[in-house]
Amino acid sequence: MAGMDGGSKSYDAEALLKRYKEERDKRLTLRAEGEAQYIDAEGEFEAFVKDPYVKEPLVRDPIREEVEVAVIGGGIGGLLTARELRDAGIDNFCMIEQAGDFGGTWYWNRYPGVRCDIEAYVYMPLLEEVGTVPTERYASGQEIFEHCRAIGRHYDLYDRALFQTKVTSVKWSDALSRWVIETDRGDEIRAQYVTVSQGPLAKVKLPGVPGIRSFKGKMFHSARWDYDYTGGDINGGMDKLADKRVAVIGTGATAVQIVPKLAESAKEVLIFQRTPSALAPRNNCKTDAAWLTGQPKGWQKERMHNFQENITPGEHPHSDMVADGWTDFFGRVGANMGKAAKSGEPFNPAEIMQDIDFQKMEELRARVLEVVKDPDIAERSLPWYNYLCKRPLFSDNFLECLNQPNVTLVDTEGVGVTRIDETGVYANGEKFEVDCIIFATGFDVGAAAHKVGGYELVGRGGMTIDEKWADGVRTVHGTQMSGFPNFHVVGAVMQGTTSFNYTHTLQTQAEHAVDIIARCREAGVEVMEVTPEAEDRWAEKMMTRHAIDLVKYFGDCTPGFLNNEGEVAGKPTFLGGTYGGGPLKYLKIIEEWRSGPQMHEDCAVSFKADAPARETVSG
Ligand code: NDP
Repeated sequence: MAGMDGGSKSYDAEALLKRYKEERDKRLTLRAEGEAQYIDAEGEFEAFVKDPYVKEPLVRDPIREEVEVAVIGGGIGGLLTARELRDAGIDNFCMIEQAGDFGGTWYWNRYPGVRCDIEAYVYMPLLEEVGTVPTERYASGQEIFEHCRAIGRHYDLYDRALFQTKVTSVKWSDALSRWVIETDRGDEIRAQYVTVSQGPLAKVKLPGVPGIRSFKGKMFHSARWDYDYTGGDINGGMDKLADKRVAVIGTGATAVQIVPKLAESAKEVLIFQRTPSALAPRNNCKTDAAWLTGQPKGWQKERMHNFQENITPGEHPHSDMVADGWTDFFGRVGANMGKAAKSGEPFNPAEIMQDIDFQKMEELRARVLEVVKDPDIAERSLPWYNYLCKRPLFSDNFLECLNQPNVTLVDTEGVGVTRIDETGVYANGEKFEVDCIIFATGFDVGAAAHKVGGYELVGRGGMTIDEKWADGVRTVHGTQMSGFPNFHVVGAVMQGTTSFNYTHTLQTQAEHAVDIIARCREAGVEVMEVTPEAEDRWAEKMMTRHAIDLVKYFGDCTPGFLNNEGEVAGKPTFLGGTYGGGPLKYLKIIEEWRSGPQMHEDCAVSFKADAPARETVSG
């Protein structure tokens, strides 16, 4: 069977589906343990998450204070929340952050070559407000980190921040009607409201293979790069690796950025591959500063929204402002759906999407065969799955560097590395002696915010969050919970939403949380809490589905973090637990909720003694 559009690309759909299934089944059989195959960097593995960037540990006395809002997390979510608080005139807040500065993921991920492949003009928030002009269309991690710091300065947030401070517990006191936050520095902070933004890419994970701890060489996770060992900096130039044999475990978004930089410096680079990535060209370019600064006021919000429309199947935007590799795929899906709808004939959106998917993946496979010179290595680098099964990647130098004589691809045919000992890594029944192991093995994306933060979260009557969720996750919009009053998650994926442009999610949820807090403040509300009935209603709404059944789509995928390692029907995580209607519908729902009667219906409130006589916080 050839491609359904009769276009220039033809493919054998049945053969491809068969190959995809075989590759998926192979990996599922080999890795039946799903998420359990990974080790969290805790306890005896804690050294993997030690902050390598703080050169002088902070010394300070414990703090005891009461604030109106405690913002936990100083990444982009925390920064956006703080900015909303400032704009709402709520200045009595503090920010608590484990790292030595703002930046979140961009603080931690300083590996050589780190870059964001979402266009900077839609990814980097508050460009207009702060006056930042990204130098390139796809910005380096360093530039994004600097922008986060600029946001901190612009909104005068540095004097609100407690850095190098890890929250250990967040407990609601019924007696005080306040949250009591404790930290590893002995602080006790009381807060009327708490917002948490821990980020989905913060909990480092390591492959659970035997022997990790026995390795006597150097090893670290990509999110804690050790430049003291490698030399060089974020731009490369790692002179200390000139005589070193380096293993990189993984071929995901991080690895494909690290490897080309390592290949410039190290004597030898061994890439341990379990599943090849699907790589499209990046095509980066310098920013036309005159164009950017000449944009009309409010341009960034419009562009962010437009990008979101263009990467959401089922939306029919009129323009594509970003027009890059992301919107290309969804644009083709949208165009064909539009054509089918116009024809008046019944059609199946999933079939249309599958057709475009086959075409796209055939193009990406053809690119591999064209770029990689060794036919065996090229064959082993072919991705056999649907385009969105793994996060789509963009690179102009990863495949190219597989041609370099000092780079070896160790294809483990879906098995992965099996063991590590004092001097090396085992794969395919063979031992590879190395000086250094770099784990580019990603993050526990399905973890709830408090698990990422590693603190105890206790609501009314001493109920822990684990007790509340013993029979499954229960929230309203993923952002609020009954039994946990005045508590807001900003960046909620579970039962919330997400986007390939995650800062869009953060922006909309930060606005949501602060708007609710501001409304409560204005109405003289002391405590606001969503009801269990509201959670039931949200659970039902959660089941809304796209025109395309994404649960089926991801269920058929090769395992990875987007489908809970192949266990889609398992614990509600990244996808299974995300609102099914997509980020734009979600945004509309939460906006209408907080500004209409539904919030009043869904919440129990108690007013301050001196509150103005009002019955609602939503009017
Ligand atoms: P990923 O989870 O995407 O990749 C982890 C890699 O480790 C996979 O290739 C996985 O293989 C491999 N792996 C795991 N265990 C083993 C093992 N035992 N043996 C061999 N290989 C193993 O993590 P990343 O850090 O690469 O990326 C995480 C996310 O961070 C991205 O999806 C993206 O959202 C974000 N990011 C974005 C960037 C950008 O904008 N360009 C850059 C970097 C990160 P398998 O596929 O078989 O599971």
